[in-house]
Amino acid sequence: MAKADAARSFTKEITPKSEDFSQWYIDVVRKAELADYTALKGCMVIKPYGYGLWENIRDALDRRIKDTGHQNAYFPLLVPESLLTKEAEHVEGFAPEVAWVTHGGNDLLEERLAIRPTSEAIICSIYSNWVQSYRDLPILINQWANVVRWEKVTRLFLRTTEFLWQEGHTCHRTEEEAQDETMKMLRVYQEFAETELAMPVIPGRKTENEKFPGAVFTYTIESLMSDGKALQAGTSHNLGQHFSKMFDISFEDEDQQRKFVWQTSWGVSTRLVGGVIMTHGDENGLVLPPRIALIQLVIVPIFRPETKDAVLAKTAEITSSLKSAGIRVHVDDRDYYSPGWKFNQYEMKGVPLRLEIGPKDIEKDQCVLARRDTREKIFTPLPGIEKTASDLLIQIQKDMLEKARKFRDENTRTVADFAEFQKVLEDSRGFIFAPWCGDGPCELKIKELTKATIRCLPLQDNNEIYPAPAGKMCIHCNVPAAHEVYFARSY
Ligand SMILES: [Zn+2]
Repeated sequence: MAKADAARSFTKEITPKSEDFSQWYIDVVRKAELADYTALKGCMVIKPYGYGLWENIRDALDRRIKDTGHQNAYFPLLVPESLLTKEAEHVEGFAPEVAWVTHGGNDLLEERLAIRPTSEAIICSIYSNWVQSYRDLPILINQWANVVRWEKVTRLFLRTTEFLWQEGHTCHRTEEEAQDETMKMLRVYQEFAETELAMPVIPGRKTENEKFPGAVFTYTIESLMSDGKALQAGTSHNLGQHFSKMFDISFEDEDQQRKFVWQTSWGVSTRLVGGVIMTHGDENGLVLPPRIALIQLVIVPIFRPETKDAVLAKTAEITSSLKSAGIRVHVDDRDYYSPGWKFNQYEMKGVPLRLEIGPKDIEKDQCVLARRDTREKIFTPLPGIEKTASDLLIQIQKDMLEKARKFRDENTRTVADFAEFQKVLEDSRGFIFAPWCGDGPCELKIKELTKATIRCLPLQDNNEIYPAPAGKMCIHCNVPAAHEVYFARSY
């Protein structure tokens, strides 16, 4: 196969996004070498390029978790059944997804051990020993870990049997303090998603039907993928005293009264990688926000045998000045692939900027910068290249957020009646902002009829949900509405 043909067939192997979004997604994940299936059903291997992306996401969030006063720790993977079943609502919520260890070697265990589907039970049993006095509070701990949920239908990054995440688990002296923590972390997630992932989100509260098993309130950040389906990108739970009462996490307060702590938990997972792919990806593959991209700028030197030395010498010079400006640079000087093949490959991998440099460019003291997001090519003087590239990366990050926000806003609709509600979901999906009566069975009926769920009750700037809208009727049952909410089909 000629090199030009090879280059073309490289992108041809991605199913067009407009034709089959699900297949496009799988193709991008595999062709960009983020992750792949394994012999173990539902479990993926995260490949170096995908894991590097996750590490950048993790590090950016970890900084924020620590800056807000939390510390990291690590808790056991296995949870004795008696602990998991202590909080009834919690165990009921997770029961269908729990993987159990029944044997140690050849011996049947006296008590089954769950592989953590989440760590509230094991961590609460430990906190029970740690907390004795009001002086032991607050406890502000986060864990980076893997969890296992026995999923029936799986999808790379979005829903896998084993996945990576962080889970914060905090204990507080007062109810108010726990609520403040719940909202603080929700806002941390929002700022993180928008700043680092260029993923605009709607912060809000989940309905009773959609909340975390065992929580008083669950808050969420919801984002809209480019196929019009919503993704729950992170959650923050106010757990109240449900767990502290069951696990006896109590303390002697200043007034010498024995009291139960107020708790929160909050988490995001590797599904964020899926969110980044589906928010920004296009027909040519992945498009990565510069702040989390493993490679921010790839240099493709263009040379013939007789010009190779001169071009590579110049490339080394440029590389060192870009690195000194803190840019994550990769040079692809392999001579057994054509420049065209490389262009396609790094487009597929979503590298934000490509720098092309050849003998003619060197003569003119310039290079070509190609933006992945807009695919625009810019002739750029070599002097000051580090500043030009840095500024462009900042601009790309900003433009990607704006583009995603514009898409989200254009795909958020209001509707006149339930017939239009159904039609919008069939034709174009997206968010529908509509009045709802506040009744759980009505919500479930809407889900049954349309496959859409209430993604959240949006929050005001003061973190309160909005008061009942005056004079509006529930989009489904037509009684006076209690809230205006975002509906969508979701992942
Ligand atoms: Zn209703």
